[in-house]
Amino acid sequence: MHDLLCSQAKTFLSQPIPLFINGTWTNSQGGKTTDVIDPSSGLKVATVASGNEQDVDMAVVAADKAFKTWSALAPKERAHYLNLLADKLESEAQTLAQLEALDVGKAFVNADGFDIPFGIECVRYYADLSVTADYGKTLELKDIEARVHRAPYGVCGFIFPWNFPFDLLMWNVMPALAAGNTVVIKPAELTPLTTLYVCKLAEEVGIPAGVINVVVGAGRAVGTPLIEHPKTRRISFTGSSGVGKQIASMCGQRPIPCKLELGGKGAAVVFDDADLDNAVEQLAGAITLNTGQVCCTATRWLIHENIYDQFVEKVTAKLKSTIIGPGIDPKTEMGPVVSQAQQDSVLDYLSKGLTEGAVEVLAGGKVAVDGHDGGYYVAPYLLTGSPENICFKEEIFGPAAFLVKFKDEEEALDLVNSLEYGLANSVFSADLARCGRVAEKMIAGNSWINAHNVFAYGLPYGGINMSGVGGGVNSPETFYDYLRDLTIARPLG
Ligand code: NAD
Repeated sequence: MHDLLCSQAKTFLSQPIPLFINGTWTNSQGGKTTDVIDPSSGLKVATVASGNEQDVDMAVVAADKAFKTWSALAPKERAHYLNLLADKLESEAQTLAQLEALDVGKAFVNADGFDIPFGIECVRYYADLSVTADYGKTLELKDIEARVHRAPYGVCGFIFPWNFPFDLLMWNVMPALAAGNTVVIKPAELTPLTTLYVCKLAEEVGIPAGVINVVVGAGRAVGTPLIEHPKTRRISFTGSSGVGKQIASMCGQRPIPCKLELGGKGAAVVFDDADLDNAVEQLAGAITLNTGQVCCTATRWLIHENIYDQFVEKVTAKLKSTIIGPGIDPKTEMGPVVSQAQQDSVLDYLSKGLTEGAVEVLAGGKVAVDGHDGGYYVAPYLLTGSPENICFKEEIFGPAAFLVKFKDEEEALDLVNSLEYGLANSVFSADLARCGRVAEKMIAGNSWINAHNVFAYGLPYGGINMSGVGGGVNSPETFYDYLRDLTIARPLG
């Protein structure tokens, strides 16, 4: 399968890949390395340096030093660097899409068609926004001349999960850089490849040393010292709700501001007047996109009783026709899950769900793909049963959904709002007034109408409750999250 890789990707993967600290490719001070595994085959594709506390210290000190000059640049000078980076990313989009597909196991068509181009758009969005942004305002007060001055924080730390390495990097790091901060990034240990490749391209376009630093490694070895480092001024964490709580508590000890983007268990409510083909397309897509490893996707499908059987017939046919294969293969529609551990976890949920009394609507689970025996493939599975079932309540993070019939709007809303997660839900109906009403009552950061997984720059995206706190991504507000307010005042007379 690696015959499909372009020469740039092959060259990049051919040598052990060091950490990127202070503009220099550096081996870990601890001398450790980690193997990057292709989930489509279970085989090693690269060796990457695995960092420790000393590496984090070097990275944060470098970022702190670089902050003095990076923050002193005019916004348009920083935007110029970011636009150069966007051009470079564009010229290497194929390589990035291949590396992302190889690393995560995601279908190349998705990496190439969405992840990479949408991520690059983000660079330009924040570069443009930073030039016209509001870096302060005058306050109209009695007897005091006063203003608010907005300044960057300094070193911002980022800790990422493995499902959308490139997009999450862009969505979170670009606003911080555009606002004048410098960054230390800890990618997920499973999927560091595109993040490191971005460093190579950032170096090539001349982004100054120390502005972007990447330390790959385990959560406790790298993530924790990054949070605890006295010169780290804020943290953005994307990952599971469980780890997110620990991160919040560590940030609270310092204390430093902390943005959490966490797990989800999104619902889709399909009324009996909905465009059924569209609902089927959207919801089958919701669990096959990135093999269902999407925080905001719909995995609780609430279907009106009048159309339940029809919906099931259509959606099962659609899911059965999904082409499962290696991520890097352009014919693949759904790749494997990211790791053996993730495969075990997704299958474990299936077995627990059945033990608790769920019934299979579509039998899926572990599946072999010809010629790729070692890959971590899971065919889509659908269950139905009680909303008390573990598979209705917990985030499975695989190609699985749980169906429940409902009678009316109130019952559907009760089901949607029965969990502590609050990331994204959707409603499907021809009655747009009803859609708007239901959308407002679903307790989450995002409600989508007649679609699921809707993203655009300028459309704020974030979670509430167990799904996140402290801001979101993809909007002007995200940019301002990376500026701190300073009030400057002079009493008059
Ligand atoms: P995870 O929480 O296990 O790990 C996320 C990151 O935290 C990794 O880089 C990991 O190394 C690091 N980490 C783990 N323990 C740590 C510690 N003690 N100190 C510091 N860092 C630590 O999540 P995952 O399995 O990589 O990703 C899947 C989860 O991410 C899902 O729950 C998914 O919903 C969520 N997610 C949320 C969003 C969003 O925007 N809300 C986006 C993508 C993924």
